[in-house]
Amino acid sequence: MGTRGALRWAAIAATVGVVALGGALAAPYLYAEHWARGHPAELSPLPTRPVRGRWFDDYYLVETLDAATYAIGEPRSDQGNYSYLIVGSARAVLFDAGTGKRDIVPVVRSLTRLPVTVVPSHLHFDHVGALGRFDRTALLDSGDLRARASDGTLQLGRYEFMGLYDGLEPPRFRVEEWWRPGQSLDLGGRQLTVLHTPGHTPTSLSLYDAERRQLFCGDFMYPGLLYAFLPGASRSAYRESAARLLALLDSRTTLFTAHLADDPPEIAAPRLQVADLRALHEALTEIARGRARAQGFYPRIFPVRGVVRYGDAFPWNAR
Ligand SMILES: [Zn+2]
Repeated sequence: MGTRGALRWAAIAATVGVVALGGALAAPYLYAEHWARGHPAELSPLPTRPVRGRWFDDYYLVETLDAATYAIGEPRSDQGNYSYLIVGSARAVLFDAGTGKRDIVPVVRSLTRLPVTVVPSHLHFDHVGALGRFDRTALLDSGDLRARASDGTLQLGRYEFMGLYDGLEPPRFRVEEWWRPGQSLDLGGRQLTVLHTPGHTPTSLSLYDAERRQLFCGDFMYPGLLYAFLPGASRSAYRESAARLLALLDSRTTLFTAHLADDPPEIAAPRLQVADLRALHEALTEIARGRARAQGFYPRIFPVRGVVRYGDAFPWNAR
């Protein structure tokens, strides 16, 4: 090979190297863009398997968890989302605002006449459907969210919203309340603690009702593959959040989560236990020590417990 041939090969090798490095660094974004293609947004047919609760219409499934707590399921959405209505004597909180595929407002209004504050567990497209459509909208006072809100209105970003999946544009909505991490909310005879639980996203929030031993945790955990490989995810934040929750929660707490398992024997509010949370913390510790074995390339999938698995990015993407 002459000098010119060698130079050409060196140039090709350098280009391939730069493209591979760029792809590896941008993996969460490339995945998000690729993932967005070819997913149908239609509803699945009415389920034939047993359901817990009652149908509100032919879309929403309402399950009474106790006299003042309701799970509102969307089992016909492709993600099997669940939102939760948490009622006190003076006001109510809707934790997660649905996918927006169908109007959730009449469902909530059929369950309470009290003023409702809606708060999303995080800002992904399948949790913010009805933000701005109840009496008040709350967000976690964390990161730069509050500073970004101008005139009390927040515009979500492309990868913050991730609506590429359903071809949705990032929304803009009004925010009336900013909840501080650790803040206690008085709903009238019922106290909730606001918890900042980053990991899935940087501004993920959970609500804890210590008296009833209920944790509403959104996409922090659910019975399926946990998405920690999209933009904004962080494995170290996930592990720290899991540790903080373990230190705080009564061990008999039920975790009410936001997504149905892939093939559940019964359609019911997706619940996990503190043992699942403990297993997640252990799995994240093992992954951090390089002692866990992954399956797959992107995401790298680690077992946690039962059907719960952790979907990691490359080590340099989502530290
Ligand atoms: Zn979700």
